[in-house]
Amino acid sequence: MKDIILTGDRPTGNLHLGHYVGSLKKRIEMQNSLDYDKFYVMIADTQALTDNADKIDKVKNNIIQVAIDYISAGIDPKKVNIFIQSMVSELHEFTTYFMNLVTLSRLQRNPTIKEEIKARGFETSLPIGFINYPVSQASDILAFGTTLVPVGGDQLPMLEQAREIVNSFNYTYSPQEEIFAMPKAIVSENKLLQRLPGLDGKIKMSKSAGNAIYLCDDEKTVREKVMSAYTDPNHIKVSDPGQVEGNVVFSYLDAFCEDYHFEKYLPDYKNLDELKAHYKRGGLGDVKVKTFLIKILEEFLTPIRERRKECLNHIDDIYQMLFENSHKASLDAKVRLEKMKDAIGINYKKLLSLK
Ligand code: ATP
Ligand code: MG
Repeated sequence: MKDIILTGDRPTGNLHLGHYVGSLKKRIEMQNSLDYDKFYVMIADTQALTDNADKIDKVKNNIIQVAIDYISAGIDPKKVNIFIQSMVSELHEFTTYFMNLVTLSRLQRNPTIKEEIKARGFETSLPIGFINYPVSQASDILAFGTTLVPVGGDQLPMLEQAREIVNSFNYTYSPQEEIFAMPKAIVSENKLLQRLPGLDGKIKMSKSAGNAIYLCDDEKTVREKVMSAYTDPNHIKVSDPGQVEGNVVFSYLDAFCEDYHFEKYLPDYKNLDELKAHYKRGGLGDVKVKTFLIKILEEFLTPIRERRKECLNHIDDIYQMLFENSHKASLDAKVRLEKMKDAIGINYKKLLSLK
């Protein structure tokens, strides 16, 4: 049997360069390989509500935005099932039963959750839904028999949690038959791409932190954002030696620049190593490096923007596609939900032959 792939994003804003390098790029490669049984991409609106309970409009309006970002970036709804999490109500049932297999202290030890609690100021007012989202995310993954999950590095602890739930479920209810496949995370081998830093130099580009370059940003916005990006605070004069580690302009070049870009836009250098060496020695100004980065990003973003314009003429069709796909995903999830209930021993209709 071939792989079943599932991944997703929270509709808390438009998708950004971090999403592209951390997850979208890999998804598109996998989609085009056609080497899978099923491929689901979930717009995680229920999960988005766990820290946006009072921001319904934000979450609701971003569902279509994320769908458009997917299609613009190259996800093909003919090959991939893009669905809306809250429209697959079976997922919540999985969560209810999985919650009994996970302790609160285990959730509190999850390093991503720890960071996110701090970032959201949830230390003294932690919503139960938020601390529980790794369990709900395990449901999203396990409900479809997922084997591969292409994600950014911050999601590795979530995958670990899902794997623990599979083991715990098998041990508690189903020692003979394996209801759930053991999912595996697919992350970039390159540490930088697992977690692209933000424009402000913070460790992660993130919608919530407001430090992102979005796939839908126009040319002027991209220029302004790159020009304001964090570099090396000690590189004041052009002649000063500069640091490339922690300098986000170089991080973005690491992620997006290829040798041919030099020939095309900056022929004084052969490759990124030469550019970095010059910056470190001194004599190379930030503006020159930033201008080069802007050209590379423009080349990357222009076709995405064009496809986005096209999508804006087909909003109703995109909604229709999402609704139909959510229905299909719901039917798929139902199959495993029944099996799960059989294994737990709570499929009462079956027990009483009332079918
Ligand atoms: P939020 O701030 O609302 O949590 P986010 O920007 O973190 O939003 P998510 O929707 O939580 O985005 O993440 C979706 C996917 O994109 C996940 O697989 C995540 O690992 C990946 N991802 C998000 N930001 C980055 C980043 N800066 N670098 C690499 N991957 C990323
Ligand atoms: Mg996130």
